[in-house]
Amino acid sequence: MHFSPSTVQLTTGGKALRLHLLSTGAVAVKTKFREAMGKGLSSTLRFILDRKFTEWLPVWVLVIEHPEGIFLVDTGELAAVNDPAYFKSSGILANWFDTTQFKFEVDREEEVDRQLLAFGIGTKDIRAIILTHLHFDHTDGLRHFPDARFLVARSEWERPFGDLPALYPPHFRPDLLDLDCSWGAFERVAFLTEAKDLALVHTPGHTHGHCSVLLRTDTCHILFAADVCYSEQQLLQEKFSANSASLPAARKTYASIKAFARQYPLVFLPSHDAGSGIRLQQLATLPGI
Ligand SMILES: [Zn+2]
Repeated sequence: MHFSPSTVQLTTGGKALRLHLLSTGAVAVKTKFREAMGKGLSSTLRFILDRKFTEWLPVWVLVIEHPEGIFLVDTGELAAVNDPAYFKSSGILANWFDTTQFKFEVDREEEVDRQLLAFGIGTKDIRAIILTHLHFDHTDGLRHFPDARFLVARSEWERPFGDLPALYPPHFRPDLLDLDCSWGAFERVAFLTEAKDLALVHTPGHTHGHCSVLLRTDTCHILFAADVCYSEQQLLQEKFSANSASLPAARKTYASIKAFARQYPLVFLPSHDAGSGIRLQQLATLPGI
């Protein structure tokens, strides 16, 4: 399954801004992992026993060609994920979980470095790599960027949930950001540009320190929402996925996103939502909030 990249040309403060949404292969998860049945342990058991996988879903990364430099949000998956020994270094439990609960389809050509090159962007041209959280399908591509600057929320780094540090490349020593500003309904953000039009935003639930990336353009606001949920529909219908670090935090995050979207038209882009590509292209904002 191949998801085509989406590119959109916009402006910020009157200056050109170009965005590319690229899917680094495809993933499938258990249907009851995407949408939880029950709570806590019962929800975990239900998805583990579930024999049905979802359709193929994208693994988006966002490239922001901003007047202040090129930012990459998350690094996506690698073809190596299908190597039977890929997760062995993370221990027996992680190896069992990650080889039985997920399925991947990734070609070498879909890895982030190759797709960036297709847009004339070399891995050394990236000003900073912003990580929403530390799950392997967001961090595996780190190995393509030995010289990059990495930005991670301090709260995610200091209290990770389900990360696999054995898979990090040795050069991964991120700068830790304190989210001590606010932006509209978002109470904990760190601005990433001088223009204060790009920020890392705390959107906890999936992990304790989970973040999204918020961008203001002259047309609309855009939220790369990572794993806040699996689809725009899920947010609108108040449905939650299983295996959250905190369900109350996930509920509060949904409320903050909806409150922000009532203030400012917001294009909402989860990492594993097949609809994110077309919504970015059409700048389709969250409806009926
Ligand atoms: Zn995740």
